[in-house]
Amino acid sequence: MTKIKSSILISIILLIDIILVFLCIATHQKQTETLKTIPNKKFKQTLVINKPNTMKKSNINPSIVSDKTIYLTFDDGPSYLTSQILDILKQQNVPATFFVTNQQFDKFENIVKKAHIENHTVAIHTLTHNYSYIYSSDENYKEDFEAIRSKIAKVIGYKPRILRLPGGSSNTISKKYSPQIMTRITNYLNENNFYYYDWNIDSGDASGKLSKEQIYNNVTSRLKEGENIILMHDSATKSTTVEALNDIINYGKANGYTFAKITKNTSPIHHHINN
Ligand SMILES: [Zn+2]
Repeated sequence: MTKIKSSILISIILLIDIILVFLCIATHQKQTETLKTIPNKKFKQTLVINKPNTMKKSNINPSIVSDKTIYLTFDDGPSYLTSQILDILKQQNVPATFFVTNQQFDKFENIVKKAHIENHTVAIHTLTHNYSYIYSSDENYKEDFEAIRSKIAKVIGYKPRILRLPGGSSNTISKKYSPQIMTRITNYLNENNFYYYDWNIDSGDASGKLSKEQIYNNVTSRLKEGENIILMHDSATKSTTVEALNDIINYGKANGYTFAKITKNTSPIHHHINN
């Protein structure tokens, strides 16, 4: 009997041991689960925190998403039309950007100065505007570029660093003068802190003689959220551009656009390089 009693007792002790071991394992599993859950929760929380941060970043980033900005730009001047453009801009109290050439520069030097004094951006286009010369070698381009820079500097007091390439950076006409010259020129400009600007709205005034209505429609129908860099010309034959200008500005103002001139801080609008 004693033997039976003691073996029962041993069995009970063993059973208690087994139960204790089982309880220990169960508790450990629970703890592990809890540990697994906590980092998951933390990770989820981190993600939630990150989301607004990312959104904030894109809001801080300049303009493109929500701003409606118009940059009026005029190539190939100065000419007798430039002073008429300055009058309209003054009356409307809006700034613009002029990419000048040498063609009538001496004749209208005072108009260039006036544009600068009236707080517009006077920038570089080219001295000669001669594609077969400027795009036939890197040296020719740089020589032409520096010559018009120096010429502008004599009028406005400093050498500008903002420019527009004749034909835009995407032109393919340069291919026949020097393959890949646009790639080399734009690399040179980027590496030397020059700021070239193409356009994302073409008024179409370069091609033949458009009516002022056509120019107005070309511009206003293409305006969108973000930055609108409008290509226009103030060379001597572009009188319908001047005639359309007032209505274009009125349309922009009526539709919530602000007007700005190009500065070094303007986000670059670059075409695709095709040569
Ligand atoms: Zn031009």
